[in-house]
This record gives sequence, structure tokens and C-alpha cells, in this order.
Amino acid sequence: MSFKNYMEDVIVEIYNEYKKSHLNYCTCDRCRADAIAIALTKLKGKYAVSPEGEIFARISRDDRQVRADALVVIIEAIEQVGKQPSHS
Ligand SMILES: [Zn+2]
Repeated sequence: MSFKNYMEDVIVEIYNEYKKSHLNYCTCDRCRADAIAIALTKLKGKYAVSPEGEIFARISRDDRQVRADALVVIIEAIEQVGKQPSHS
């Protein structure tokens, strides 16, 4: 499992949980894909300061922190997409 795949999995899982209790956001395929892409970029940015191997070692010991950070960036991404949705 790569670092990138790990982050994608966490983002998708938390996005799916979040939208269950926040039905006021559009979750069409386009908005979902946009929100996930934005959240993934933001989450990777948060962990971009140290070498990937080192980060991954830290993350695998502290999964809860990554999930908490993922939720924050997902909420930001959903709001960003909601303001300027690219769906037609
Ligand atoms: Zn939409």
C-alpha cells in the first residue's frame, strides 16, 4: 500500500461517512470527484514537509490524527465545491 493510496482511501471513506449526515450538499458524481480531489491535495499538502517514508511511518502509528485532518479538509473541499459546482 502506498502513501498516496492510503490517503485516498481515508478521504473516500470519510467523505462517504460525512455525506450521510450532511444531506444538504450536492453529491453527484462530478461534485463528489471534485471534492475528493481537492481534499486529497489539501491533505497531502499538510504532510508534505518531511520525506514520504518518514511521514508514512508516523501516520501508520497515528491513524486517528490523519482521519481528523482528513475530515477538516473534506469539509473545506465540500464548501468550496458547493460555492462553485462544476456540474451542469
Ligand atoms: Zn453536483
